[in-house]
Amino acid sequence: MKIICVGRNYAKHISELQNEKPAEPVLFIKPDTAILPNRNPLVLPDFAQDFHYEVEVVIKINKLGKYIDTNFAHRYYDEIGLGIDVTARDLQSRLKAKGLPWEKAKAFDNSAVVCREFLPKTNFSDLQDIHFSLKKNGITVQQGHTAEMLWQIDELVSYISQFFTLKKGDLIFTGTPAGVGKMQIDDVFTGYIENREMFRVKVK
Ligand code: ZN
Repeated sequence: MKIICVGRNYAKHISELQNEKPAEPVLFIKPDTAILPNRNPLVLPDFAQDFHYEVEVVIKINKLGKYIDTNFAHRYYDEIGLGIDVTARDLQSRLKAKGLPWEKAKAFDNSAVVCREFLPKTNFSDLQDIHFSLKKNGITVQQGHTAEMLWQIDELVSYISQFFTLKKGDLIFTGTPAGVGKMQIDDVFTGYIENREMFRVKVK
């Protein structure tokens, strides 16, 4: 399986990093080796110093799809989850400045925190009206609302499938809202969809 991540999908996060609003979704991929096994601590690698959390709603693909029409995109996923796109921000900034790919800063081992259990999408009356949040040591640091996505979930599934064939089990990280910040040793992060705890991870 693979993880397809969407960058710059929330306007306030774009402005906090002083990025330009893209004309089309920004995509990058994390390999399956990026997934942090559940209950494992998040051990930060030593090739960078400034690691950031980015909490994101995650979509789990349920069947093979390519060139998916936006109107049929909802047939390609049944479950919604939550994760952290762990980012080596200092390394990413250096790569971006040189116009180089982001992979080393975004796709390294354990850079994808993913909830253990996904929720059936039928739990939600409107997928573009989901509130989610991240707490760092018990204090809320990010709050998101899927209504604020620049590209909605079905538009993302359709767009992504033009470039990358989607397969059962693939995950889509749909972008982070504002409030990203540093991860440090001994921090504990908990992620929530509405009031439900979706994951808990400790940084080592
Ligand atoms: Zn992200």
